[in-house]
Order: sequence, then structure tokens, then C-alpha cells
Amino acid sequence: MIPIDRVVLTHVRVPLVEPFRISSGEVAEKDAIVVAVRSEGYTGYGESSPMAGSFYSADTPERCWEELCAALERHRDLRELRVGNFSRAGFETALADIEAQKAGQPLWKFLGGVRGAVESGLAVGLYDTIPQTLRAAERYLAAGYKRVKFKIQPGRDVGLIREARKAFGDLPMFVDANGAYTLKDLSVFRRLDEFGLMMFEQPFAGPRLEDHAELQAAVATPVCLDESLESVELLERAISLGSLRIANIKIQRVGGLDNAKRMHDICERHGIPCWMGTMPELGIGGAQAAAMAALPNCRFPTDVEASERWFRDDIVTPPIEVSGGLIELPGAPGLGWRVDERKLEKYRIVRREFA
Ligand code: MG
Repeated sequence: MIPIDRVVLTHVRVPLVEPFRISSGEVAEKDAIVVAVRSEGYTGYGESSPMAGSFYSADTPERCWEELCAALERHRDLRELRVGNFSRAGFETALADIEAQKAGQPLWKFLGGVRGAVESGLAVGLYDTIPQTLRAAERYLAAGYKRVKFKIQPGRDVGLIREARKAFGDLPMFVDANGAYTLKDLSVFRRLDEFGLMMFEQPFAGPRLEDHAELQAAVATPVCLDESLESVELLERAISLGSLRIANIKIQRVGGLDNAKRMHDICERHGIPCWMGTMPELGIGGAQAAAMAALPNCRFPTDVEASERWFRDDIVTPPIEVSGGLIELPGAPGLGWRVDERKLEKYRIVRREFA
């Protein structure tokens, strides 16, 4: 049990390089609640990082802020806090940072990682036209990303992938629908099946596990679940139904590194490869996902990208960098990336301290 001396919450808002648009909405700024925990001379950092305006889930930065403040007013033991997954991820990962520092190990080794560099993949959001989408992909692919995923929505799917195959040839690629389709759209996925994609990520809404199983039985391309996998129990149910052949694990969505690791291990036991997704988070959350991506059953490039891909000015130094499609993991104990307190101050919306 880690004795807690102090917790500082800082709600920050960092401008994005370009708006991020998926089938459920668009954001131009990145909100996060940075959780700094002090314990016996160590400082651990976590990030509670929902997208603004229930963009990806019902959790919002404001709700996480209220939840964390209310919980910290009542409790001293952070592990006893009853909060949602995004809030929990904020402090659970800060505690993991401290534990890794106390163990004298970089977080990725502390978690059981087996590789000192991880492959990074490019994610391309929705744009008004197919040529714009392909230009955006081409611009970022110059950094050597190992694969590209395209966000799709009804009406912007088969045509986009046909053109992307023409433009990028055999480059590993796949699609992410963020749940925008239903089983009625089976024909769309049958047509996409012909393009040799790595996976179909979250075709249908999160709760539709049976429908995903029906789709998986009808197509050769592996179905990958993201939004559906909010808990260990849901992952186990999805596996037993045959709803997926690949799992996207997100530290924020599952409520921290301990749950993420449990899900990684369950997938491994069932022969289901996984990979680390992102919201995307700021550099703290990105660094945590990169650390998890070093685990043995993370067999596809992570969605963690270079800081400059999304943020004008990330809060970690040095920024996360992708070189030759790889993110080098640090050798320093703990998270390994330093959090720049001046930037927390610069982008602060509100800050509160709990002693
Ligand atoms: Mg996704």
C-alpha cells in the first residue's frame, strides 16, 4: 500500500494541431485531468483523459473532475475510490508510476514488457472528401508509421478504402467505425472484406456483442472490439460469443493499467492478439500506452503517435517521438517521460490540491 502525502489535480486544455473528427463527433482541443500523487519523496503522474462533450463515451472532463474531487474529499485511500473508469485510470496510473519508480524499473519493464521499442501506427480521422483524407494520411505516413487506420462512417467506407489501396498499395491498413453501423450493413463489410484489411474495428455499437459475432462468422477479416470492452467481464463474454478475433485495449476505457494488464493476459490465454489504443491522450497517457504495448501479446502497432501529430505543445518533455515507425521506450524508472509543470500551469483551467 502506497502512503499518499498529497494529490494535485490539474484540468488542462491543450490545442490540437487539427480538429479530430470521427463518426460520433469532432474536437479541436484536448482536455485532460492530470493527477499528480506525492508519496515519500516520489511523484507519480496519471492522466484522466476523456474527450470533451461525450465524444467517445459518456464520460466528460467535467464529470471526471467532479468525480475525482468529490472522492478525494471523502477518502484518503485512493484505491477505495468508487469512480468511473476514466477517473480511476487517472490515479491508478499515477500510483503505478510511483511503484515502478520505487522498484527502480521503467514502467514498461515493471508491467512485464519484453521490448524496448514499440511500433506506432497512424490513425486518420474523417475529412470532407476522399482526396483530403488520403493527403492527410500521406503527410503523416512520412514519419514511417507501420500501418494506417482510417475512420469510416456509412457512405464513406468502401470507396475510401478502394482509393487508399490504390494510393498506398500493400501498406497494412484497417478501418475503425466507432460503432457507426448495424447488422443491416453486412454488405458493406462483405465488400470491405475483399481489401485484405488487418481488421474491422468496432463496426457496431458497444453493447452489440451478438451482432459482432454474427458479422465475424460472415467475413474473413478479423473483427476487433474497442468501445465494447469496458470491463474484464465484457471481454470474457465477447470471447465466449466469438465476437472478436483482436482486442483494442485502452487504459482509460478499462480504468487503469491493472485492468489493462488483466485483459491483455486473458486475450493471451485465448489466443487473441491485442494492441494498445488511445483517446488520444496527452503525453502521460500516451507514454503509459506505449509502455503496455511492450507486453508480449500486443502484436499490432499501437495507436500512440508522435506528440506533434496531435498537439501543438505536449505536456511531457521530451515529446513522444516516432522514428522509423518506432517509439523508443525510456530506461529511466517510472513513466520515463518528464511532466513539464510549467506547461500544466500554462494550459490550466483549474487546479486543486488535496493534502
Ligand atoms: Mg477505436
